[in-house]
Amino acid sequence: MAQLSDDCFAFSGPLLSLEAMEKLIGERIVPVAESEQVPLRDSRSRVIAEDVTAPIDLPPFDNSAVDGYAVRYADLNPKGETTLQVVGRITAGARPDAALKPRQAIRIFTGAPMPTGADTVYMQEDVQAEGDQVTVPAGLMLGANRRLAGEDVAAGRVVLPAGTMLDAQHIALAAALGLTELTVRRRLKVAIFSTGDEVVEPGSPRGGAAIYDANRHLLCALLERLGAVVTDLGILADDSGELARALAEAAAQHDLVITSGGVSTGEADHVRSAVERIGSLVFWRVAIKPGRPVAMGVIRAPQSSAAFVGLPGNPVAVFVTFVRVVKPLLLRLSGALPQTLVPLPVRAAFAYKKKRDRREYVRVALRRGSDGEIEAVKHPQDGAGILTSLTETDGLLEFLEDVTSIVPGARVGFLSYAALIG
Ligand code: AMP
Ligand code: MG
Repeated sequence: MAQLSDDCFAFSGPLLSLEAMEKLIGERIVPVAESEQVPLRDSRSRVIAEDVTAPIDLPPFDNSAVDGYAVRYADLNPKGETTLQVVGRITAGARPDAALKPRQAIRIFTGAPMPTGADTVYMQEDVQAEGDQVTVPAGLMLGANRRLAGEDVAAGRVVLPAGTMLDAQHIALAAALGLTELTVRRRLKVAIFSTGDEVVEPGSPRGGAAIYDANRHLLCALLERLGAVVTDLGILADDSGELARALAEAAAQHDLVITSGGVSTGEADHVRSAVERIGSLVFWRVAIKPGRPVAMGVIRAPQSSAAFVGLPGNPVAVFVTFVRVVKPLLLRLSGALPQTLVPLPVRAAFAYKKKRDRREYVRVALRRGSDGEIEAVKHPQDGAGILTSLTETDGLLEFLEDVTSIVPGARVGFLSYAALIG
């Protein structure tokens, strides 16, 4: 069967591997230098500018992990029960007023500071309390149910290295250490355009041959998750002059300009020629499917220059090239550490053939097989324009360059959408 019309790579020109592309991004993209202080409340998705070290120990003091009785391990009968005198009560937030003397115990609650002399805590469920006496069983280890000062973080340790993109857990750690503000790199300014004479904005009149714009909405949502300030510059016609003018204007005000559509080799694909008029292309074809034509370049502007990425037109190709091309570039530009994606091993529930020397991403839903193993089921429609193939699946299988065929039952690498876009 002839492959020509269906073959994404049937035209000439150098194909860049994803690995080489990542190397190029590392070499050509310089992170934004400016930084600012932001309150914790506004720090999600921001990038730490300088290593943050812990100003205090965490926890700040030894404390009890349970509700129960603080005791001295040395008092315990290793072979049987021990009865101790209960001499006090310490709740969370209270200061311990007495030190524990031999054969004494103190009633204690979760988070309360350990009284001096006590080193071990019995859970209240495990003891018998009667009047001012408590009887505890043997068998508890020294230090059980006690949380040591600094066991989570020792003061002075680097807890948030420069380049960390802040998420809920990082912000919680900063708060627990008493920090109120963090020094982060400035936000990236990203401009987005759609291109295509057939593309119209949802809500506006649609002629018979027009389609509503999905890509700008996809890109906006993806970019905002990564902390970018997005300027939505609308839809451009398939006209090299108009494209060049609009891209140059956007480049003057933004760090990164992203387009979708018009980047292929068709006669109506003018994005590459437009970029070549106002800047230069670094690459325009990457060995990735879906997504083959994806361009990266630089647009010159009077004061500074902006990075440029031209994504394909089909929405699924936009999604895949965003996570594999735009995201690494954006992380680098924003001063963030590169993300290491670890595909999780699952079992393929389908057969698949692919060409050598390109990376392929296959949309799959996960299910539990009859033997309890997790299986990946390929979406029945794999066209790059099928948006429901993204909404009805859980993530992508990644097939590396040297793979040419997958047999049912093969172990394959799964990347969840949550991991890819987070
Ligand atoms: P192109 O690369 O410009 O030839 O576009 C490839 C396919 O993607 C065509 O079918 C376009 O109509 C479609 N397409 C381009 N831009 C968009 C968009 N913003 N939203 C949805 N589909 C698009
Ligand atoms: Mg087009």
